[in-house]
Amino acid sequence: MENKTGSKPHVVLLASIGMGHLIPILELGKRLSTHHNLDVTIFVVASQSSAAESQTLQSAMTEKLCEIVELPPVNISGLVSHDAAIFTQICAIMRAIKPALRSAISGLSFRPAALIVDLFGSEAMMVADEFEMPKYVYIPSNAWLLALTIYIPTLDKVVQGEYVDQKEPLKIPGCKAIRPEDVVDPMVDRTNQHYLDYVRMSMDIPKCDGILLNIWEDLEPKTLEALRDEELLGQLCKVPVYPVGPLTRPLKPLDSRSGELFLWLDKQPSGSVIYVSFGSGGTLSLEQMVELAWGLELSQQRFIWVVRAPSRKTGNESYFTAGSGEANSMASYFPEGFLDRIREVGLLIEDWAPQVEILSHPSVGGFISHCGWNSTLEAITNGVPIIAWPLYAEQRMNAVLLTEELGVAVRPNILASEGVVGRKEIEMMIRTITVDKEATYIRNRVKKLKNIATKTLSEGGSSYNALSIVAKKLELRWKTMEVNAS
Ligand code: UDP
Repeated sequence: MENKTGSKPHVVLLASIGMGHLIPILELGKRLSTHHNLDVTIFVVASQSSAAESQTLQSAMTEKLCEIVELPPVNISGLVSHDAAIFTQICAIMRAIKPALRSAISGLSFRPAALIVDLFGSEAMMVADEFEMPKYVYIPSNAWLLALTIYIPTLDKVVQGEYVDQKEPLKIPGCKAIRPEDVVDPMVDRTNQHYLDYVRMSMDIPKCDGILLNIWEDLEPKTLEALRDEELLGQLCKVPVYPVGPLTRPLKPLDSRSGELFLWLDKQPSGSVIYVSFGSGGTLSLEQMVELAWGLELSQQRFIWVVRAPSRKTGNESYFTAGSGEANSMASYFPEGFLDRIREVGLLIEDWAPQVEILSHPSVGGFISHCGWNSTLEAITNGVPIIAWPLYAEQRMNAVLLTEELGVAVRPNILASEGVVGRKEIEMMIRTITVDKEATYIRNRVKKLKNIATKTLSEGGSSYNALSIVAKKLELRWKTMEVNAS
């Protein structure tokens, strides 16, 4: 790597594979470049990427706000079994990418002032050490997840048996306790590789120089306090925590919001449409899709459903599928006559929809969501009440936060992993967030959060200030590098 430092501080970001990881890193990079005057290079791991992923990368490259560099794909077939959990696979990819990252950093024209990785990239922090660079972790999620992650090595020592078999909620100092059934996926089976990866990650994170979160200061005050309190979680992780969110994808220009979907939305009454989507890879069983179809129909509300082919598993299992699932005609997933009966009130979109643009449309009044953190923030920043339908990863915790702490969502009584949510319950939840008395309360709550969230990102807002502090630190570091280089 050349010793040159460039005309302004240069920071490198590493994105993990998957849309849910790529989007927040891109948005952080853009924000650092546009609002904090940094030169930003984003390394992305070339994957067997979906069309949506390629388009997202392409448009980020066209914008030219950051330099986007694709690292060569890595082959992990000899490293993990083909049926390993997604979590394990991503960890293996991010481990295997280290040599490529090392040589990409070596090849840069300007020395970076820091490396920022996400949760899955925490192992790559050792590459930053080799180049004597500060390193930051961006957790594109909430403080409660960070608190649990930091506390895992302690829970690992004190909890006997599986976490999911515990009779009492798992206590985390200063934070809301976590019910055993809501733990993150890697904690579900302690004998599995993904648990070992999670514990390793938990031990790596506190070695960084600062942690960025995709929340804002007022969203989880109690948890942030515990993370900063040296008698609580602060003793396990002594680095500063910076809430810099909500960083979400910006809306595409109005002229790109044309076509049948937006023409249809324009014709619907304000706040009348329920948007149904389970993220970049969530799938439901066929049985669950049938119940959801009935629930939507019984609710008599309008809806847009991003339909993905059902998972091959039966009954109550739901999981993440990268790509578009099985190719099949949509009609075969639904109750007989469903497509004809909903013709006037429902729109079905296969696989992928322009989610941010849909959620921002005034006709949309509710979101059945798997509670991925990007989707969660997109709902909140557009003031849309949520039906929390968690499927995988940390989504059960997100659902708890949305329903029990923030009051912006309702949730089925059973977990998707434990059974099929019935049509009556679905109908009832839809009515709760749209037409019942409770709907006004939830709508007001989410609108209030929306207003607060928007302000935090403006100049002088808490998230703006938090990211400014990070940027200032990088600038200081760059100035020192400049002096040393001259
Ligand atoms: N997304 C989208 N259209 C879709 C499905 C998903 O634009 O049809 C976007 C969504 O807006 C969000 C991201 O993909 O920004 C999904 O991230 P999230 O954290 O919600 O869930 P994940 O896919 O990681 O489980």
